[in-house]
Amino acid sequence: MPALPPSTPIFMRRGDMPVSLDHIDCWIFDLDNTLYSPSAKLFDLIDERMGAFIMRLLDCDAVEARRVQKLYFHDHGTTMAGLMRHHGVDPEDFLVDVHDIALDRIAPDDRLRAGLARLPGRKLVFTNADADYAARVLEARGVADLFGGICDIRATAYTPKPDPAAYAAMITHLGIDPARSLFVEDMARNLTPAKALGMTTVWLDNGSESGHRDHLPDQVDFHVSDLADWLDSLPAPWGIS
Ligand SMILES: [Mg+2]
Repeated sequence: MPALPPSTPIFMRRGDMPVSLDHIDCWIFDLDNTLYSPSAKLFDLIDERMGAFIMRLLDCDAVEARRVQKLYFHDHGTTMAGLMRHHGVDPEDFLVDVHDIALDRIAPDDRLRAGLARLPGRKLVFTNADADYAARVLEARGVADLFGGICDIRATAYTPKPDPAAYAAMITHLGIDPARSLFVEDMARNLTPAKALGMTTVWLDNGSESGHRDHLPDQVDFHVSDLADWLDSLPAPWGIS
């Protein structure tokens, strides 16, 4: 599939069936590269701190640290999960260290805020990061007061998306009905367990995932390129179209 123009929302459903939003009462959002643009490159700062953490832990150079970081991310869902499994890393030490970054690369976004505020029902965050950092990001984006709950990596007993156990913990922690919930993610692989649980899924295909895709993943109900554009493009009462 060719790269999407930045402001073109695409509505798609397998079999071209329209998706109704009438039944949705919980709107769940991933945090990083979803509630802010990957163009902010905020995750680069976390990535750098992860690399430095691994260099200290393993007493290795940056190249080896990078290899380990990406390997664990691929194999375990998060770098942290791999470090816990293979090196007995205390997740709290890791979380506090890698999220100790400045947030001056992101700013409040009035249009995103208006779009989120229109959505009827609870707005929630489901993130592989920790809730303290998530709250800082929501504050920096000027939307913290709109959100009624955060399911973070502590609430899932340090089990990350896309492990199905993380979604089971999230459902309990946030008290949601998956059949009445919509989940927005920049990483398509994290939508698979959500879809299996009956959630409506939105893939924010904003370039944060590397690799070329030549087909729409089956777990995607809505395929969009920009969150604020998509929210505006929805028919009333969800959007302004
Ligand atoms: Mg993300």
